[in-house]
Amino acid sequence: MSGKMSKGKCFFCSKIFAKNAMQKHLEKCEKRKEYTGKSESRVGLKKEKIYNILIKGGREYQMFIEISGNKKLKDMDDFIRGIWVECCGHLSAFTIDGVEYISAPYERGDRSMNVQIADVLDRGTKFSYEYDFGTTTEIDLEIISIREGKIDNGLLILARNLPPEAKCCVCGKDAVNVCSQCIDEDFENAFFCGEHGEEHECGEDMLLPVTNSPRMGMCGYTGDNDEFYEKKFSPKI
Ligand SMILES: [Zn+2]
Ligand SMILES: [Zn+2]
Ligand SMILES: [Zn+2]
Ligand SMILES: [Zn+2]
Repeated sequence: MSGKMSKGKCFFCSKIFAKNAMQKHLEKCEKRKEYTGKSESRVGLKKEKIYNILIKGGREYQMFIEISGNKKLKDMDDFIRGIWVECCGHLSAFTIDGVEYISAPYERGDRSMNVQIADVLDRGTKFSYEYDFGTTTEIDLEIISIREGKIDNGLLILARNLPPEAKCCVCGKDAVNVCSQCIDEDFENAFFCGEHGEEHECGEDMLLPVTNSPRMGMCGYTGDNDEFYEKKFSPKI
């Protein structure tokens, strides 16, 4: 993987921007304005508080989403799992203002994710999410703004990073697999093309697909649901 500044795609106009220029772009994207305008004029949808959230997984992965304040933390959990982290049904938790909300509360006093977003999040709130308390994937979130409006599906992806480049450490071709054993110790030498993956000393059982996710190469993460979730929550343009 290269250390180059990673890029992202605006889901309204499909243009590519440096990741750190995306927020500015979204504020003035004409296609987005058009799309939002259409949603606003639709009969049937009710106006609600809509939260604009930046979701970051390490330095490489980021998404901008909008979610209805009427949705619950468990809806956001479901989205993050589907597009980025779900492997074998591990526990997850949001930590907001020092309070932890757990996907499956197991001790007295634990709080569940059955809480409305509007009740726990405010403009400027920075909070975190963890998936799997063993081999943990850590995600940072921030409420960028809140607006009154209407939104399809209650959740919309505005922009997402492009898959980081991954090259085979032996031959330099595009990598398709990552060794889950080596990724922690020797990141640069953990990626393989089909051919060199077969020959890798850790064995093929240790190989996982290259994915566009902060959980790539961890536990049994394969990214199988990524495409489905991205499509489901993309603006219908
Ligand atoms: Zn755009
Ligand atoms: Zn797992
Ligand atoms: Zn190769
Ligand atoms: Zn290995």
